[in-house]
Amino acid sequence: MEAEAAIGVDIGGTSLKFAAVDREGRVLRHWTRPTPAIDPSEGIMRELLAGIDKLLAELKEEAPELRVAGIGIGSAGQIHKRDGSVAFAVDTIPGYTGTPIKARVEERFPELPTFVDNDVNVLALAEKHYGAGRELQDFVCVALGTGIGGAIVQGGRLVHGVYGGAGELGHLSVDFNGPRCSCGNYGCIELYASGTGIERLLKERFENAAKPAWALNAAGLLNAWQSGDALAGEAMDVVLAALGSALAGVVHALNPEAIVLGGGIVEKAPALLAAIEDATRSRTSPVMWKHVRLLPAIAGSRAGVIGAAAQVWQYT
Ligand SMILES: [Zn+2]
Repeated sequence: MEAEAAIGVDIGGTSLKFAAVDREGRVLRHWTRPTPAIDPSEGIMRELLAGIDKLLAELKEEAPELRVAGIGIGSAGQIHKRDGSVAFAVDTIPGYTGTPIKARVEERFPELPTFVDNDVNVLALAEKHYGAGRELQDFVCVALGTGIGGAIVQGGRLVHGVYGGAGELGHLSVDFNGPRCSCGNYGCIELYASGTGIERLLKERFENAAKPAWALNAAGLLNAWQSGDALAGEAMDVVLAALGSALAGVVHALNPEAIVLGGGIVEKAPALLAAIEDATRSRTSPVMWKHVRLLPAIAGSRAGVIGAAAQVWQYT
């Protein structure tokens, strides 16, 4: 069979990652560039086009027998599925909303089919093709990091909704009287169980009390919790109840085979998965629970570029 590769690019708030990836998900070459800080929207497009150019030139030189099958891009923000532009991005990348990613890449590389999707959606594709979702048709990915991202796979395909915004699981509310979220709702799960949400909770919890040294951020809380600290245990009870409530809602809405949990917070605390499972099970109807498993994401640190490239194999 002819040797093939796809270009995968992962656009985030701090870095752009580039890779050539083969059909088996092996990274043939890769590198990372910082996300431009000044005029990031135009800067990202400039880096993106230059980076793809460089990768194509290197592949041509060093592996002339390799056929490049297309370009897959995973990006922060919500992506319009119709035209591959940025439908909405938060202020971590100022001015990024509206950036016509797919049109600009296709203009420059008209011979290569180009696909653009949200970064968590492409993580779910990485899990589907090479990770925890390989044997699964219906599953949900939840990424617990600075924020909370989600992606839904049904019948082996990503669910996009009307324009591409489906899967924003970080904005499931777990308390309609809770604090206001940037999305407009109150008490979204992101306010309790993301990195920034945990910092907010800790600040609130120790506002009028002596603050333990660990109580600065999610990593501190998780460490103290894993070593059996009682105050950390109380704070974690809130985080886990919120997560269990949100994930039980996901199970009841979608009846998935699995929830695949990834992101920096899960990687920092191996004991977390079992605790989240307990918190979810206790809030899920037994007949639903019987069919669902909680699985750790396994596609690894290069899942962003591998999943971005997987769009080429998924759609061509
Ligand atoms: Zn929200």
